[in-house]
Amino acid sequence: MSERSPPRSLYRDTAGGTGDYAALAGARRARVAIVGGGFTGLSAALHLAEAGDDVAVLEAHQPGWGASGRNGGQVNPGLKYDPDTIEAMFGPDLGPRMVDFSYAAPDFTFGLIKRLSIACDARQHGTLRAAIRPKPEAAVRATAAQCQRRGMPVGMLDAKVMAERTGTDRYISGLFDARGGDLHPLKYTLGLAAAAQGAGARIFGDSEVLSLRREAGGWLLKTARGSVSAEKVLIATNGYTGGLWPGLEQSLVPVFSAIAASEPLPSAVAATILPERPVLYEAGNITVYYRVDAQNRLLMGGRGPMKSIDDAAAIRYLTDYALRLWPALAGTRWTHGWNGRVAITKDHLPHIHEPEDGILICLGYNGRGVAMASAMGAALAQRLRDDETPPFPMPISPLKPIRFHRFWPVGVKAAILSGRVKDRLGL
Ligand SMILES: Cc1cc2nc3c(=O)[nH]c(=O)nc-3n(C[C@H](O)[C@H](O)[C@H](O)COP(=O)(O)OP(=O)(O)OC[C@H]3O[C@@H](n4cnc5c(N)ncnc54)[C@H](O)[C@@H]3O)c2cc1C
Repeated sequence: MSERSPPRSLYRDTAGGTGDYAALAGARRARVAIVGGGFTGLSAALHLAEAGDDVAVLEAHQPGWGASGRNGGQVNPGLKYDPDTIEAMFGPDLGPRMVDFSYAAPDFTFGLIKRLSIACDARQHGTLRAAIRPKPEAAVRATAAQCQRRGMPVGMLDAKVMAERTGTDRYISGLFDARGGDLHPLKYTLGLAAAAQGAGARIFGDSEVLSLRREAGGWLLKTARGSVSAEKVLIATNGYTGGLWPGLEQSLVPVFSAIAASEPLPSAVAATILPERPVLYEAGNITVYYRVDAQNRLLMGGRGPMKSIDDAAAIRYLTDYALRLWPALAGTRWTHGWNGRVAITKDHLPHIHEPEDGILICLGYNGRGVAMASAMGAALAQRLRDDETPPFPMPISPLKPIRFHRFWPVGVKAAILSGRVKDRLGL
């Protein structure tokens, strides 16, 4: 399957449409041009348009074609690092801002969905971070203690309660964060696109930006059939970043993550797996994430082959693992399997760059973009409007290519992923 064709996924088959935004044609003007129609680009477009700004989104395919329309649908709070670590890394001013912003991102996302009445099966039933072994358990406990110290709605669950909440006795303990939840990501993305358009943003599908260069008064973006002249540009291309901006593609490593979806489970079986319907991700070397969706399908996510797939047979280890967790799944049909690119950065934090006047870049959510990208969109919109109240919630850093990047994908495991990424993605 070509990487350019939209993946066959559960989401594509159940979203009730895939977006039908016409391609850019002819020469246009906009105050802000946004490259990329995922959560980041669309949320920024929405918030700009709502503030009365003149904005155009250029998406190479259709909104939600990238990670935003294919992800695990888990709305998870926080960043890769614990709050204490973030505050030690970024100091007493920016550090707490980053912590507050990232842990508030799920509430922001669910609030946005409610405000816009986006029908996307959104449920805020919490996130479980489950430990299988003592070492990850210690890390999970440290996170829980730091969150509790800050008054966050987080608690530790022992093995017995974990077994009740998950339907498997695999976990020795787990952290429960009440702010997490889930949604149908493609319905959400398409809902965001429709809301942005409704607020006045112009959205163009099938409009890959092929070049971006300075012109008098701003920037000129060219597609195969048209162009946009814009005062400001937001690049929001995440794991699908190509060569549009020098060095950007080399500043992250796109890594595949894969998901298998079951047929709707019989209600007796569905009632035993995550009965209260939180989402779960495992802490440890092999990261697996799963949830039961609003139609009682089990969605199992985890490491995937480093190429596109469109069938659950390609990720048997995930469905076999599900069977190990819940033997009652024997005979279950796995109707869909797909994958997409997660953008990993060297420091495992989202990157915001302003390499030249009028250019803003935001990408690299490291597998935590559902909530973060939604919330970042609003912050980026403020920055694009030169509105600095409240102060920007994330560091703005110089663009730095990763050493060894040219060895991707061959060298990716050896060089970039030798350390902590392994823990997040199970590579
Ligand atoms: C399989 C999988 C599971 C995941 N699970 C979760 C999860 O459960 N929870 C979570 O929080 N996060 C998860 N993530 C991560 C999350 O999906 C992303 O962080 C988030 O969607 C990023 O949104 P974005 O808008 O920045 O990028 P994307 O949604 O990837 O959008 C980028 C867009 O840019 C477009 N583009 C690229 N180049 C150009 C160009 N030159 N011109 C025009 N358009 C261009 C692409 O077509 C693409 O649509 C997962 C990701 C994957 C792949």
